[in-house]
Amino acid sequence: MRLHEYQAKGVFAEAGIPTPASELARTVDEAVEAAEEIGYPVAIKAQVHVGGRGKAGGIKLVDDAEEAREAAEDIIGMDLKGYDVETVLVEEAVDFTNELYVGVTMDRGEGRPVAMVSKRGGVNIEEVAEEEPEAIAREHIDPAFGMHPFQARKVVYDAGIDGAVAGEVASILTTLYEMWDERDGSDIEINPLMVTEDDDVIAADAVFNVDGDALFRQPELAEMEEKAADNELEAKAQEYGFEGSNYVQLDGNVGIIGNGAGLVMGTLDLVDYYGGSPANFLDIGGGAKAERVANALDLVFSDEDVDSVVFNIFGGITRGDEVANGINEALDEFDEIPVPVIVRLAGTNAEEGMEILNTDLVQVESTLEDAVQAAVDAAEEVKA
Ligand code: GDP
Ligand code: MN
Repeated sequence: MRLHEYQAKGVFAEAGIPTPASELARTVDEAVEAAEEIGYPVAIKAQVHVGGRGKAGGIKLVDDAEEAREAAEDIIGMDLKGYDVETVLVEEAVDFTNELYVGVTMDRGEGRPVAMVSKRGGVNIEEVAEEEPEAIAREHIDPAFGMHPFQARKVVYDAGIDGAVAGEVASILTTLYEMWDERDGSDIEINPLMVTEDDDVIAADAVFNVDGDALFRQPELAEMEEKAADNELEAKAQEYGFEGSNYVQLDGNVGIIGNGAGLVMGTLDLVDYYGGSPANFLDIGGGAKAERVANALDLVFSDEDVDSVVFNIFGGITRGDEVANGINEALDEFDEIPVPVIVRLAGTNAEEGMEILNTDLVQVESTLEDAVQAAVDAAEEVKA
């Protein structure tokens, strides 16, 4: 899960990394007020869960109130790479001479975290990584020992960082690594880490991705995730406990629910195979408590794009008849079933389950092919 820039900067600042003065704004008026308070020039920056905002027009530097208003009007409410911009960070603009890159991530190939430093930071770091990987210095860390001071100095030296700021950059990198370790980071980076004429170093951007599976022991970060949900469906999924990768919104119109990640993936593929387009991935996991099933249905029904739902259940330890009872109870909680729901039940006690299911409310199919085909057809019909 990814924090917003302003949240990541809050975490960085707490750890002692220098960040520019800034304020969050939700409206154009708030943005102008913040800019006046901070003093020009300021940067107005879209807060969305995606990088490359600068190139996509989500960041503007302004010199007075009029420009601040114009920029805020442009950015708030814009669609940035598929994300609605609801908030902007108004930030003291940094007058820089150099843009550096520092980051810590997991090198899965090596099975160890790696610290990275480059003097070629800024918006083109992806191209640098691709075309000139040697311009990014790397140092693997043994998590049992943490990052030794000599390792931080070495990677900064290898990157060719100017001596006047090398000590400060090494210290920031060490702090980043400690944060990665203590706060269950997956990718943490500062790009750009700006260097000023006076050789001050300041984090102008902040990326903090947290390991979603570790959120249970990072309550402070988990709370940030809830606040940062980009849309209502995401927020609802979190509220229902379908967090992390259990629910993923997609852009089609066939809702998909299943018990088990592989089963749901297979269903997605089959929807695509039959010419349909999946609206989501939703894995409700093992068990079939009516409440969980009802929550899953409510979540998928809440997606306005959904025109039909395919429910793919495999009875294993949880038997088919139990699942069917769960689905029936869940269906009872709705005054109205808004779109056709097609259920495929297989595995232990599937026959019994299919007999129990309330066919006034759902269509039952015994093979996945038939269920998916029916859901795709139903969705097509709505569209037509
Ligand atoms: P990203 O495009 O989403 O990674 O957003 P960044 O925060 O990294 O900003 C992109 C680029 O905008 C930076 O590399 C800078 O060139 C520029 N930028 C951002 N903040 C400032 C600032 O305070 N002052 C100046 N002069 N440029 C900035
Ligand atoms: Mn950046």
